[in-house]
Amino acid sequence: MVVVPAQPGDRVSFCSRHGNPVTYTASVRFRSRPSARLQTAVAVLVVAFGLPVAYPAARYLDDPDPELYLLLLGAGLFAGWLAHNIMVKLVDVPAWGFCPACRARRANLVTAATICFVLVPVPCALYVPVVLPEQVGEGELSTLAEAVRWAVVAAPAVFAIAGVVLSAYARWAVVAGGVAGRNGTTVEFRRPAAQFAQQVTGQAGPAELG
Ligand SMILES: [Zn+2]
Repeated sequence: MVVVPAQPGDRVSFCSRHGNPVTYTASVRFRSRPSARLQTAVAVLVVAFGLPVAYPAARYLDDPDPELYLLLLGAGLFAGWLAHNIMVKLVDVPAWGFCPACRARRANLVTAATICFVLVPVPCALYVPVVLPEQVGEGELSTLAEAVRWAVVAAPAVFAIAGVVLSAYARWAVVAGGVAGRNGTTVEFRRPAAQFAQQVTGQAGPAELG
């Protein structure tokens, strides 16, 4: 692992991911990686306690209610996200160097994330022609309508989560492959390109090879 001070004195001339010459700089916000177990534990606890508290009948799984479970899942994810934000350390670097391959990687991920977000409302369009007429009418929902109802609830969430994940990978800090140190003054690279590592560790100062 290579540790770089948050404000390196000399400009590094190779990108950290590919080791290509730097052709572009962007201001980058590196984030630390707080304990994933702790975040997961918070999310699981919220869901586990929320289920019987929010809706006692939900303990009896013979009447699944998709909207309720999605709401609880959302509450759990929100709690995990909140725990993450409380623990995370940020390190801002005004001009971090990237190569054309880095920019292409980011552009592709941004495109993929945009497609996912655009797809979010598409399943909802099925609700009106398939489910609504049966809900307004009397009698049980048909199997098709029931399946569409589940899909309408679940698919947008899947697309939204995929979009959020792709957006996270599209961040400059992730393209660079760096993570803020937990003390908030350094940036750590687990698998940097050789040229980058060589230049950084060759410089005098607090840079060190871990
Ligand atoms: Zn690169």
